[in-house]
Amino acid sequence: MAESIKNESQESTRTLNFVEQIVADDLKEGKNGGRLNTRFPPEPNGYLHIGHAKAICMDFGIAEKFGGTCNLRFDDTNPVKEDVEYVDSIKEDIHWLGFDWGNREYYASDYFPQLYDLALRLIKEGKAYVDDQTSEEIAAQKGTPTQPGVESPYRNRSVDENLDLFQRMNAGEFEEGARVLRAKIDMTSDNMHFRDPIMYRIIKHPHHRTGTAWNVYPMYDFAHGQSDYFEGVTHSICTLEFVPHRPLYDYFVDELADETYRPRQIEFNRLNLTYTVMSKRKLLQLVKEGLVQGWDDPRMPTISGMRRRGYTPASIRNFIDLIGYTKYEALNSISLLEHAVRDDLNKVATRGMAVINPVKVVITNYPEGQEEVLEMENNPEDPTSGTHQMPFSREIYIEREDFMENPPKKFFRLAPGGEVRLKGGYIIKCTDAVKDSDGNIVEINCTYDPETRSGMPGSMRKVKGTLHWVSAKHAVDATVRLYDRLFNVENPAAEPDCDFREMLNPDSLKIVTGVKLEPFLAQNAVSGTHFQFQRIGYFTPDYDSTPDNIVFNRTISLKDSWEKAKNK
Ligand code: ATP
Ligand code: MG
Repeated sequence: MAESIKNESQESTRTLNFVEQIVADDLKEGKNGGRLNTRFPPEPNGYLHIGHAKAICMDFGIAEKFGGTCNLRFDDTNPVKEDVEYVDSIKEDIHWLGFDWGNREYYASDYFPQLYDLALRLIKEGKAYVDDQTSEEIAAQKGTPTQPGVESPYRNRSVDENLDLFQRMNAGEFEEGARVLRAKIDMTSDNMHFRDPIMYRIIKHPHHRTGTAWNVYPMYDFAHGQSDYFEGVTHSICTLEFVPHRPLYDYFVDELADETYRPRQIEFNRLNLTYTVMSKRKLLQLVKEGLVQGWDDPRMPTISGMRRRGYTPASIRNFIDLIGYTKYEALNSISLLEHAVRDDLNKVATRGMAVINPVKVVITNYPEGQEEVLEMENNPEDPTSGTHQMPFSREIYIEREDFMENPPKKFFRLAPGGEVRLKGGYIIKCTDAVKDSDGNIVEINCTYDPETRSGMPGSMRKVKGTLHWVSAKHAVDATVRLYDRLFNVENPAAEPDCDFREMLNPDSLKIVTGVKLEPFLAQNAVSGTHFQFQRIGYFTPDYDSTPDNIVFNRTISLKDSWEKAKNK
């Protein structure tokens, strides 16, 4: 009995994470009229990364789960760093992940008039003042968590003077940095965010939506909670670094809310991934300095990079499900993400054959000029996926690594006198290898056993090794980009003494030309599709690819061959 109760409670805690539990309780209590409205609030100052995907899955996912809505709100309060290019990319990435905000596309800048009015009201009520000090002076007076701060000499200005100065700040009469508007709260508060936080600063850079209409811009803490309130957001879910901001969030919301409705902030742990960085500032630096080829470089932890790399939305969402939401910071292994990618691609990727490092094999007893067509399964994991045809002829390519002249004992691939099966085709036996004057193998001679093709009496004959191959005459040349981890340090963010750029993996991209594709792969090399190159890994055609210059990105190696390659 005790056992069954325990199982039941484990079951219920597994089905709802702690944020969902809070939402479920609020809905049950009928808070906010029983409404659920979340928001995803990106700042359009960069492309979204996998960390944002975690927030997106939470914000949109919880709304879907409980029949609520989720707003997309651009947190565009700093015109210096923001741009429409980022707005567009963010929308594309959210849609690609499979979420939709309907007609609820909002901008913090939509609320600039209301925020300005609130600031005027707080000034009139003696709750805000204009400070003429520099940001350095203000920072120096802030104190420390154990030492109280010092009050600004401008703290007790009259309401009239504050009103006049703030309006003139917005009229453009003062230079950037000359003055700020601060909330008059408590310079001795235990919470540093209550020590007269800055509400507005002067910025004279045009805004991507409001142009030059404003010369003062609200700080995050003065914009976020109120924007939530203006929009009717009920649950403002964010990451743990905002825990100490929450009292200030509530403080400003108190100026607006009544007992019928108020938004609340809930925090969960950020996604951090090994062998990469998640800071937008650092990602921007990689892009600007040309250390990667753009925000969507397939080595980047960005959603657009992962899309170009061939990751699927399902694999990213499954990964985020796997790691879950907690209240403790953690570092998640990139291997887990890669596992989720393999798991999904195994189900959806079409199988084909490509030889990355080709060596020619001549089947000496196969009649010259003869060819035949073999039927290949498109995906053994998907019974509805059908088959495609693959030509076979006297000369084929196999991987150079699949032949050894003097093999060790457990080498089950091709060697003189040995037999292997050509995947989906005949068993061949190596007779000898042809070398150039330097001793390099240029060609391998084999004979085939005509009885071993599928459907023939000898097709059940067992040999230890099976190789992928491509008919030489029919092969189409392609370029393949092999990607590896962007950094060679597990947690670059944890090495403050080292410039993160010095930790970049110099071998994160290898370009291989002269790869031999079976015709089916060449004909279907359309960007956005997923293939498994048999025995090698998962690949996706790059958007650069053209019929005359086919380019595939390696999404990820097959686990086994990766391990094997590493152990060699
Ligand atoms: P910045 O440091 O430039 O503000 P940011 O990563 O916080 O960058 P935002 O555009 O402000 O970027 O983030 C939008 C939302 O995504 C926020 O709610 C933020 O909490 C969430 N978010 C950002 N990074 C992560 C992460 N690594 N894991 C989970 N959520 C994240
Ligand atoms: Mg942020």
